[in-house]
Amino acid sequence: MIHEKHATQQGKAHSKSADWKNALATGFTHWQDLAQFLEIDPTSYNTPALKSFPMRIPKGFASRMQKGDINDPLLLQVLPSVKELDSIDDYVADPLQEADFNPVKGLLHKYKNRALLILHPACAVHCRYCFRREYDYQAQTQSKALWLDTFEYIRKNTALDEVILSGGDPLMHNDVLLAWFLAQIEDISHIKRLRIHTRIPVVLPERITDELINVFKETRLQKIMVIHANHANEINDDVTVALAALKNQSQFTLLNQSTLLKGVNDNAHILKALSEALFAAGVMPYYLHVLDKVKGAAHFDIDESTAKKIHTKLKSLTSGYLVPKLTREVAHEMAKTWIN
Ligand SMILES: *Cc1c(COP(=O)(O)O)cnc(C)c1O
Ligand code: SF4
Repeated sequence: MIHEKHATQQGKAHSKSADWKNALATGFTHWQDLAQFLEIDPTSYNTPALKSFPMRIPKGFASRMQKGDINDPLLLQVLPSVKELDSIDDYVADPLQEADFNPVKGLLHKYKNRALLILHPACAVHCRYCFRREYDYQAQTQSKALWLDTFEYIRKNTALDEVILSGGDPLMHNDVLLAWFLAQIEDISHIKRLRIHTRIPVVLPERITDELINVFKETRLQKIMVIHANHANEINDDVTVALAALKNQSQFTLLNQSTLLKGVNDNAHILKALSEALFAAGVMPYYLHVLDKVKGAAHFDIDESTAKKIHTKLKSLTSGYLVPKLTREVAHEMAKTWIN
């Protein structure tokens, strides 16, 4: 309630489509600007020019970083590093070999009952550890007419009961198109659940407009949203208000997945604080992923035995339901692999 009042005063709870597009367009794309904003010496960091995966940080996300701290856990997730240029054996462009599970354009069918749609190629933020940082999204991007073929695949596969909207970030689409995708999925009678994987409620809460909330209000499908936060500092009042609207008005079950990242959250106390902040905002911890071995992200990796130790310690510090499952994705397994 306090949060809601606070946010309404700031006008955030009723943000409109123009607001989120503006917030998206005015994010930081140059280190000089960000350094000035964070009061950090711009010469203290040498940002490589990465054409394929440039810097992209919404201002609202940057405002949650600690001024003057070059090692801020939010900054480390999104600041390009020269280490990304290191070429290290075993760290490859497509660590999950997803091309093997791509029967029709825009769709990954890897696990029996659920198919994942690469709904939108872009994200509101560029996370430097992203396993899809090298992904060929162009090959999955398509027109509405071609999407109908993708939905035909789902219609024919009666073993499917769940559709996952992913990307990139599916909430980068406008509300009209999202409503169209929803209608197509709803029309397939064996689909019971709609799941959305998105980092937008965390990095661009302005996107959670009244219009978006309305898109998901009237559907027969059960709705799950899996957000992505790695540190408690990511959850501020604006994020809390956006999540409350998704949960209370659109009736999403809210879950979170995190990635275990060196220097960001590789500590049981930090993970406990994250779980508590999420729970206070109505979100249940779901997965804690060990990093996928993608090219350019090796400097974030935590080896599996250290990951297990951190996870065991976390279990000893907090309630069972606040402990996410520690998982690793193994390319050709029937499901994600639970470690510990
Ligand atoms: C991770 C993933 C899913 C979802 O798996 P859950 O264990 O149900 O969260 C579905 N499809 C693909 C291709 C995935 O990578
Ligand atoms: S939001 Fe997700 S898909 Fe997008 S860059 Fe970050 S980790 Fe990758």
